[in-house]
Amino acid sequence: MKFSDYNITKEVKSQLNVLGYTRPTDIQFKAIQHIIDGEDVMAIAQTGTGKTAAFAIPTLSVIQKSKKKNNGIGCLVMVPTRELAKQIATVYREIGKDTGVKTFGLFGGVEQEQQIRTLNNGIDILVSTPGRMFDLISQKVIDLTNIKFLVLDEADLMLDLGFAKDIEDVMAFIPRKRQTLFFSATISKKIKSLAYDVVRNAIRIQISPKNPVAKTIEHAFIKVSMDDKRFFLENMIKEYPEKKAVIFVRTQVRAGRVVDALKRVSIESECMHGGIEQKDRFLILDRFRTGENNVLVTTDVAARGIDIPNVEYVVNYDIPDVPENYVHRCGRTGRGNKRGQALAFCSESEQELFDAIVEYTGQDIEEYEVSKGEYLSILDGSDDGSSNWKLLLKKANEESEKGLDW
Ligand code: AMP
Repeated sequence: MKFSDYNITKEVKSQLNVLGYTRPTDIQFKAIQHIIDGEDVMAIAQTGTGKTAAFAIPTLSVIQKSKKKNNGIGCLVMVPTRELAKQIATVYREIGKDTGVKTFGLFGGVEQEQQIRTLNNGIDILVSTPGRMFDLISQKVIDLTNIKFLVLDEADLMLDLGFAKDIEDVMAFIPRKRQTLFFSATISKKIKSLAYDVVRNAIRIQISPKNPVAKTIEHAFIKVSMDDKRFFLENMIKEYPEKKAVIFVRTQVRAGRVVDALKRVSIESECMHGGIEQKDRFLILDRFRTGENNVLVTTDVAARGIDIPNVEYVVNYDIPDVPENYVHRCGRTGRGNKRGQALAFCSESEQELFDAIVEYTGQDIEEYEVSKGEYLSILDGSDDGSSNWKLLLKKANEESEKGLDW
């Protein structure tokens, strides 16, 4: 099946050609026709599978065909994070470049005035995080009474972030007669019950249920003590200085500390997390996208769903508390048909969390065995002599073996 075989508008088809999309990916193959046929869809699809285009292509095409009637907002895409709102709106605009369909990405953390002007000028597709949207609905700037499509993307993260009530609330503003497209990267009882609250007789699609991790990624882990992780990271980055890497840590504070530790050994990196102002988060992502910065240190929430090409490495600097997050983190690399590497730094205290990941993913994660000698030489090789107490201790031992006073 090719895109040219689908009943989608010629403007969408020709733009897909320009973007180099010739054949639909698995999720696109399974979803697009049903969406064109007017059915509800509930899809469990991992990131990097092409799921954005799976809903953008048919919704754009249908909205374009009905646009003459100029009905106001016809498609609402609800997403959990501001980055996703921006990114998905960009995909819509790229694919819809020649369709005349106007897509707007709406989110909080920035001034409202410009957003209100754009909305008042009329848009067809709204991609939005819940907070700012409800704010502008209450100001009567947004009218959702002509919605044909409701798309819920990354629904599992919406639940994790406490947006369940917002999803429920939005139903009061949109017509009952609509098409709902429900996308989640993972499945749980909660997700299923949320899905069944919003979809009707949905077509169910599940991509690679047994292997939630993309096949283009190689996985490995290293046993390393908590205090030594930064030396191993330094060693890895210095070995592959030109490669693009995303480093995942557990907390915002740790993200800052890792950036500082790297700076001490002359490695430039930037950190991104929910505590950083929105406009700065976009700039940080842009610098990472363009390669101005190649090392991004981040927490889970800020990085979810982000599609940045050519990320060669994901480092699980801290093992995630929830196994699903391992899948999301690793999804930042090996995107499309590209290959990627996922490396986990596992300390003794994180072993249980790591075992849960192995069980959840069914993934064979290879251990990079590091001999005692190699381990010490990684500590030795660090340029951060000043704060490397183990190195100092080792030197002290050597000195005392030589009979010298320390
Ligand atoms: P997503 O899962 O939506 O984040 O998409 C992952 C990546 O796959 C994006 O960089 C898309 O540009 C790319 N992509 C999506 N659909 C196709 C396709 N049919 N052919 C080639 N690349 C695609």
